[in-house]
This record gives sequence, structure tokens and C-alpha cells, in this order.
Amino acid sequence: MIQETGLPFDNHYEPFAPSPEDTAVCFRGDAVLLAEQNGAIRFPTVGEAGGAERYLFTVGERRYFLCRAEAFGDYAFREIGLLRRSAPPARVFAGVTALHLYRWYRDHQFCGRCGARMRHSDAERAMVCGCGNTAYPAIAPAVIVGVTNGDRICLTKYNRGYAHWALVAGYTEIGETPEETVAREVREETGLRVKNIRYYRSQPWGLSGSLLLGYFCEVEGDDTIRVDHDELKEGRWFAREEIDFPDDRFSLTREMIARFRAEKAKKT
Ligand SMILES: [Zn+2]
Repeated sequence: MIQETGLPFDNHYEPFAPSPEDTAVCFRGDAVLLAEQNGAIRFPTVGEAGGAERYLFTVGERRYFLCRAEAFGDYAFREIGLLRRSAPPARVFAGVTALHLYRWYRDHQFCGRCGARMRHSDAERAMVCGCGNTAYPAIAPAVIVGVTNGDRICLTKYNRGYAHWALVAGYTEIGETPEETVAREVREETGLRVKNIRYYRSQPWGLSGSLLLGYFCEVEGDDTIRVDHDELKEGRWFAREEIDFPDDRFSLTREMIARFRAEKAKKT
């Protein structure tokens, strides 16, 4: 999965001063400044970018800073989705995670309570305002759900956005537990009722500012899928042998589908 880079990730925050050899991540809208060759990406150094605005995190020995720069030399602003198809894993994870922080900083320049300009906290990763408001980085919990039916699993396709077969997914609403989100999203998107909801694994997902929580569960009662066409284009049961797309080693969704496919058929 995206966070499994083989290198330690250290996001302890200090207002570090940048060095020229640190790594610079620069965004413009949904584009990121990078050089790419045969699927391998690299970011400029802080020195090349002409300075840095904010320390982000460290991956392995490499410190990443949020920067502002124009395109130069081999470095061009490329659409953020390119990261999904790129290597090495540590830089891909750093780019996606930097995007999450970049969007949060961008959207918290002004206080949501009184409208005044906010400033950076010296003590922690937070934006603070003289009115007493403190804003912390926002993470949206969401669930990914593998609904199984004996030897089959429910896969769906969205109306827009991600074009491939995927698991049922949705954001946790205020006031509910993730397990309640699982039951609600499955019911809303497919009309199915589920039982035996089990937590699987989680994944930070900076592309949507989320923390994804993976669950498996089993259909209960009527297994007729009735797709909510406001959100989904289609949905149906897939037998293990019908699943012909591989684990992309990037997304929790793909890992869960691959895990289901690899399981031995259970007698039900
Ligand atoms: Zn304020």
C-alpha cells in the first residue's frame, strides 16, 4: 500500500529551518512540480526551488518542505494522478501526503470563526488566531468495504472519477462509528444488509485527505444488488476466478480485492 515505502516516516512537527539540500514539494492547483523519466519521479531541492515555506515530514533520511516555485529545467507541473503510476514508493507517498498538508494550509489562511488572518503555531502543526481559534490538520475518516457472499464479492463502479471496479466506500458522518458507516454505505449504495463486520487494515490517503479504514463483512438475507444510480454506474457479485486485475501495491481497495481472490473458497 501507499504508506509501505520500506523507509521510516517521521511526521513529528518542529518549525525546522530548511537546508538547500532538503526536498521541495511545490503545488499549483492539482499539479505538482517534478521531473519524471521512465516512471521514476524526483522533486527539486529547496536550493533549486529558491527557498521553502514550511517543514512537512521526513521519509527515511530525506526532509520534505512545502515550497513555491515556477517550472524550471527538467521540472514541470504535472497532474497529481501521475503519482499513482510512478516510483519510487517513498517519493510517491511523500508527494501524496504533502498534497494533503498543502491543501489544508491553503484552506486555513483565514480564521473560520472570525475571518482574521491566521498564523502558524510555534509549538505544533496548527494554525492559530487571536480570537482563540486553533485549527489542526483535518483528516476525513472513510470506509472501504468488502461485502462477501460465500465465494463472491460485491464490486461497484462509480458514475464519475475512478473508472475501475472497486469496493463499496464512503465517508464517516458525524455521530456514527466506522462500523455504522459500513452498514449504512452498503445499504445506500447497493441495497444490501450486512453482518459480521470485521476490521481489516487502514491506509492514509492524501489524494482525498482521508484515512481509509478497510472492513470485510457478509451479506445478510436477500443478496439482490440494487445500485444507487446517483453514485454508482453498476454493481454486481464477482466470483474469485472472475477477478482478473492485480494488486497494484498502492491502494487498500486493490489489496482487499486481491486478498479475497487469494483466499481458499470457504464452504458456506
Ligand atoms: Zn479568529
